[in-house]
Amino acid sequence: MKAAAVIVAAGRGLRAGGGVPKQYRSIGGKPMLRWSIEAMRTCPDIERIVVVIGEAEKAEGRGAAAGLDGVEWVIGAPARTGSVRAGLEALASGEAPSAVLIHDAARPGLTAAMASKLCAVLDRVQATAPALVVADALKATDSDGVVQADVSRAGLRRVQTPQAFHFAPLLRAFRALDGVKTFDDDLEIARAAGMTTQLIEGDAALMKVTTEDDFAQVERFLTGGAMIPCVGTGFDAHRFGPGDHVTLCGVRIDHDKGLVGHSDADAAWHALTDAILGAIGDGDIGDHFPPTDPRWRGADSELFLRHAAELAAKAGGRLVHVDVTVICESPRVKPNREAMRRRTADVLGLPLARVSVKATTTEKLGFLGRSEGLAAQAAATVLLPA
Ligand code: MG
Repeated sequence: MKAAAVIVAAGRGLRAGGGVPKQYRSIGGKPMLRWSIEAMRTCPDIERIVVVIGEAEKAEGRGAAAGLDGVEWVIGAPARTGSVRAGLEALASGEAPSAVLIHDAARPGLTAAMASKLCAVLDRVQATAPALVVADALKATDSDGVVQADVSRAGLRRVQTPQAFHFAPLLRAFRALDGVKTFDDDLEIARAAGMTTQLIEGDAALMKVTTEDDFAQVERFLTGGAMIPCVGTGFDAHRFGPGDHVTLCGVRIDHDKGLVGHSDADAAWHALTDAILGAIGDGDIGDHFPPTDPRWRGADSELFLRHAAELAAKAGGRLVHVDVTVICESPRVKPNREAMRRRTADVLGLPLARVSVKATTTEKLGFLGRSEGLAAQAAATVLLPA
């Protein structure tokens, strides 16, 4: 049976490092989306691959598939059903396939063998998908968690993707949708249209990546856990000069002096940028943003930090924790600490709990004690393929 694949990568969930959606984040050294494209490409039953992406992520999409030819790109819709429809219509506009596998990019654990197995089932039924038995006991509760009923798990399955269908009846079912009713998955649409459906045994590695912890788990499935934590450190100091504020971790803090520097003199983010570069062994901030380059005069240090995070992602790394210490007698850092953490977490796409900002003094000792300037040191932990 001539089959095609629609990979849905148009979701905007779980914003991550470098400000990209999760399907472009690195897992085991590759963007998440690339795992599914590669699996579909190596499946001998799949002849066309359509990837549905968000309007704003054309560059990320193509980047994720760099060097892989034969991928067709389609812009998705705000809701998943619309995105799938767009993928199906793209297939229909060419030489329509007999079957289609619809897959979520958030499930990178796909294998070519699974895709082949699903195609084979379509010789017997019109729709199929991998599914797992439910091992846990099931309870129905109210919104407070008070149990209202015991639910039998007998015969229940957790359905994964790819979901595979005979193409023509599925396209008809999608075209007939009224746009009002919502569906949990494509199988529900197929069944509502009367298509015969049989599930096959799923694969734990096909888990959907939803939470931050899922990244680590799916990485273990895909790479055998071969990621090692690399810790980088950074240090920076800037001299006080005329001015009415300083900028630390992107937060403006009123002060009776300013900081002298080529850029915005954000010593905290400069130290952190160096820490991330240190973790991936990629030089220092001065290599990437030379102070002699007029482009960086007065620059917002967010640019430097984002660039370091992007280099870490390109190296196949996953930034998991940062810790910044500001060293000065004044201004007072503590009242601004939470704002500094939040800004840093936002820029790096880290949960707040993985971002630490601290402050200390040198007990009036040395240049920092004499308030000639302020300094910052930082550590960053990046998981890198072993
Ligand atoms: Mg600096």
